[in-house]
Amino acid sequence: MSNAFDILAKDGKARRGRLHTAHGVVNTPAFMPVGTAGTVKAMLPESVKATGAEIILGNTYHLMLRPGAERVARFGGLHKFMNWPGPILTDSGGFQVMSLSDLRKITEDGVAFRSHIDGAKIMLTPERSIEIQHLLDSNVTMCFDECTAFPATHEQAAQSMRLSMRWAARSRKAFKQRDGYHQFGIVQGGIYRDLREESAKALTDIGFEGYAIGGLAIGEGQQEMFRVLDFTPDFLPQGRPRYLMGVGRPEDIVGAVLRGVDMFDCVMPTRSGRTGLAFTRHGELNMRNARHADDQGPIDPECACPACGNYSRGYFHHLIKAKEMLGPMLLTWHNLHYYQELMQGLRGAIEAGTVAAFVAKFAAMRAEAAQGDA
Ligand SMILES: [Zn+2]
Repeated sequence: MSNAFDILAKDGKARRGRLHTAHGVVNTPAFMPVGTAGTVKAMLPESVKATGAEIILGNTYHLMLRPGAERVARFGGLHKFMNWPGPILTDSGGFQVMSLSDLRKITEDGVAFRSHIDGAKIMLTPERSIEIQHLLDSNVTMCFDECTAFPATHEQAAQSMRLSMRWAARSRKAFKQRDGYHQFGIVQGGIYRDLREESAKALTDIGFEGYAIGGLAIGEGQQEMFRVLDFTPDFLPQGRPRYLMGVGRPEDIVGAVLRGVDMFDCVMPTRSGRTGLAFTRHGELNMRNARHADDQGPIDPECACPACGNYSRGYFHHLIKAKEMLGPMLLTWHNLHYYQELMQGLRGAIEAGTVAAFVAKFAAMRAEAAQGDA
């Protein structure tokens, strides 16, 4: 567990790092495309790599229900099964059990629920979640936790967080430690500073290779999220990676990097691509909008992705209106390329000690509402 994460440079609280795994290196700050059910939707694995992504996220909940973790293991693990040879982080399944399944019952032992696919009764415990992630051959295994709802009173957030900390201890015990394989604890505690501190202390006492900040981006708003991020990373050890789960919009990521976060995942670039939304450095473009119908220019003339190099806005407008699958494919590619270029820009700026200027330029361009029409 030594030297799993190097910090190469710092600029203010922002960190430029490198996470070593058995399947390769992840340069941070990093954005992880979401590969929900063993695929980053609408993308070939080699296309995902071409955007600059070095690590993807897999969803334990989806994969345990279909095709099943034991089956993926028989195929040699998720890397081989989906033809993604690079690093993979898996979530614990806890968040999606809460949001997708029926008839959930939380006990000290775990969560009993019914599959949203076939209604089968399933029990997910910390031990089973860690076993599933092991079967998937995940490079970064997440602790099984309960994502505290928002809003929650101090007492509700405390009870939920303390249950997650007991589950974190069980998750660590169930984790098979090997070189190149890491486990991250998840800080909970809602919007409450004392609870975040208590949670971070409980996790660092157990000791993990990295730490996630959970329970944010669930409706509290960016201002409140940034307030929690103003203090939570300070409760975590400097030499370990920090992962903000489920975040987010480009502005959220940039703000979190400035506050000392290293890793991110979000469905936004992929999901938005499938509904016709393109992220650009000048704001979002909705390709459904009729004003693009006769526009022969690219989505972003400065973007080096295939969607911008070879196709017009008018063509994307047509593809989306005609529900042709090439539209979602190319827009997903463009959006992932945009996110990875943003991360690359942040990494370069931290190395150069110019992150403040980079962020000021980013914000000014993104605010150019004249071009954006989302
Ligand atoms: Zn592009």
